[in-house]
Amino acid sequence: MTKLIDSYNRSIDYLRISITDRCNLRCTYCMPSDGIPLMNPDNILRYEELLRIIKICASHGITRVRFTGGEPLVRKGVVDFIKNIAGIKGIEDLSLTTNGVLLKDYAMPLKNAGLNRVNVSLDSLKKDRFQKITRADNLEDVLKGLDESEKIGLSPVKVNVVAIRGFNDDEILDFALMTKEKPYHVRFIEYMPFDVEAGWQKEKCITAMEIKDVIEKHEKLMPLDSSKNRTGPARRYKFSNAVGEVGFISPVSDHFCGSCNRLRLTADGKLRTCLFSDDEIDVKKALREGASDKEIENLLFNAVRKKPERHYINDNIFKKCSRTMSLIGG
Ligand code: SAM
Ligand code: SF4
Repeated sequence: MTKLIDSYNRSIDYLRISITDRCNLRCTYCMPSDGIPLMNPDNILRYEELLRIIKICASHGITRVRFTGGEPLVRKGVVDFIKNIAGIKGIEDLSLTTNGVLLKDYAMPLKNAGLNRVNVSLDSLKKDRFQKITRADNLEDVLKGLDESEKIGLSPVKVNVVAIRGFNDDEILDFALMTKEKPYHVRFIEYMPFDVEAGWQKEKCITAMEIKDVIEKHEKLMPLDSSKNRTGPARRYKFSNAVGEVGFISPVSDHFCGSCNRLRLTADGKLRTCLFSDDEIDVKKALREGASDKEIENLLFNAVRKKPERHYINDNIFKKCSRTMSLIGG
């Protein structure tokens, strides 16, 4: 098997796939209130096309696949699709990033289909603020989804919190304290520059270090092993008597590009070499023009070769991406 090694000697074993651009929420930092213009459904990769791409990736050392969106649970047939992916030789870890609204009912079928774990995005524990951020009234549903996922062992259940200054920074400690009661991995993610209604400003981004300081004013965190292996880019910590853990992901203040192991596939079939790079390789076009597996493989190796050494979001040359997170698959 020829493995996917990029020009900077990083081994690529992780594929993040956006399976839809649709979503049942409208988070203010991700989408305008009336949503984004949706892709033509014909342009969305069909499940059998995704299956073929993932099989080819798995035959070159991709062992971990994450499904995201848009909201992956709004796409019809997602459970059967995941069941098919779980059967692919070489795939060891299947995960899903979701807003959690539909998770309570989906958790068990997903687990039975072979999903290993979930990341649930949740930016406020206050009902009115949740509504303000997401423009919907589903906090209870998300909390039930978290509970159910934990109960049935879709673990570890990770809770992703985007910390935005002046928006939810007064809840940092509440989120961290959740880990004393629940075995969740609460991960604070820095607010990244995607241009939704020109809302991003550097001052709104609270750095991972600042977030940690806020928590440690209350109680010291103990460092855990953050070696990349299974934990991804989070720096991990724990309160001494906690059942869960706290993580910090710092794409803005302290990038982790040197250990990046991922490729992304958009819902409309473009391989993206980096979250922040608009350099895309069109796999869908090739698939639909009858490309052989060998030709698809060549596109895959080409994408890996083109992976940039790092992102440039803190440099003057950086231009905001043409796609927002929901169109890339965050
Ligand atoms: N709908 C699913 C969800 O919300 O989990 C999956 C897709 S969503 C685009 C994936 C993640 O991107 C969410 O955790 C969301 O909070 C995050 N996200 C979106 N825009 C972001 C931004 N500008 N900075 C940081 N995270 C962002
Ligand atoms: Fe939808 Fe996720 Fe974007 Fe919120 S962050 S609007 S849930 S895609």
